[in-house]
Amino acid sequence: MTELPFDDDDNFASAGLRLTVDLTALVENWRDMALRSGRARTAAVVKADAYGLGIEDVGEALYLSGACDFFVATVDEGVILRLYAPEARIFVLSGIWPGMERRIFENDLVPVIVSEEQLSFWMAVLADYGEYPCALQVDTGFNRLGLPMEDAIALADDVSRPASFAPVLVMSHLACGDDPANPMNRQQLESFRQVTAAFEGIESSLAASAGIFLGPEYHFDLTRPGIALYGAEAVNGMANPMRPVATAEARVIQTRNVKAGETVGYGRALRLDRDSRLAVVSAGYADGYMRSQSSGGVPLRQAVPQGGMGFIAGHRVPVAGRITMDLTIFDVTDVPEKLVKAGDYIELFGSNILVDDAARAAGTIGYEMLTSMGLRHQRHYVAEE
Ligand SMILES: *Cc1c(COP(=O)(O)O)cnc(C)c1O
Repeated sequence: MTELPFDDDDNFASAGLRLTVDLTALVENWRDMALRSGRARTAAVVKADAYGLGIEDVGEALYLSGACDFFVATVDEGVILRLYAPEARIFVLSGIWPGMERRIFENDLVPVIVSEEQLSFWMAVLADYGEYPCALQVDTGFNRLGLPMEDAIALADDVSRPASFAPVLVMSHLACGDDPANPMNRQQLESFRQVTAAFEGIESSLAASAGIFLGPEYHFDLTRPGIALYGAEAVNGMANPMRPVATAEARVIQTRNVKAGETVGYGRALRLDRDSRLAVVSAGYADGYMRSQSSGGVPLRQAVPQGGMGFIAGHRVPVAGRITMDLTIFDVTDVPEKLVKAGDYIELFGSNILVDDAARAAGTIGYEMLTSMGLRHQRHYVAEE
């Protein structure tokens, strides 16, 4: 092949859409969660590609900083994480299904048994394989996954259960941890205490990020923070003490001047009442920049008047009209002209536009914003020296 008269591409510098992950902030957030967890050990929940930020780099950074327990949702996620956290204990929250046994054993993953069916299957697997650790999810009122409490307690007391069955963790999940005043928290705590009493000598875990903030009673032996590690809100109505970790930015493809009275975009969803300047950026709903953040022309605007905002050159700039699949238009009229030009980047969320504020404009939560980013973001990991 002939040499091209160009330098190698700098994918990040030229990306239409980029995601910067601050690994120093991530690790600080994990240490903060560990401090708040008191005597309990602190795991890291890295399901859904570490909430969209990349399980490889996130998993490795946390592992090298001392995290030794991880939770993933699926066996596939566990197989990837194993490469970056060789000695860690990796729990698989969705448990086990026939056909997964080999990958569980080969990658040293710990399935979280979540139902009576899984329990029977697991017992049969152990009859062939011999002793192997598992965790037990017990339902204390969430009604999603988990063994019913009575069945779990009966299992704990069952002297005839095979010795190869070796639970190392019994766990449950709070339905209302993000709402500290909700009486459901204490109900679930009382129920979970009955379960842990039955499984004396086996480690226990109840609290995700929000549960950690509920205080020491909720911590048990192992806490399971996810969202707080990534800097987003865990508890409703509380000032978020975590450091932002993810910054999403989209490149300005074109700016244009538009006269008062003209309209913008699909459905003419925005009519300009002054001469305006618009910046068109390369991010749209296919990138998780949700259409519900449009400034108009979407039903959510009747309930939440303010659409999404971007940030550039010290200014917050509103989304103009409807967000489309690959493109979003911002109104940059109030930003000095020389400060917004093609090639510049507008922050979609990060330390100026908090991911939870972007999520509120979209009618959703930070968790969904982060995990919806899709495949087109060029990722970049930074850490302080
Ligand atoms: C996702 C999940 C967590 C982490 O929850 P966050 O609210 O992100 O901290 C913990 N435990 C279970 C069972 C989960 O599904």
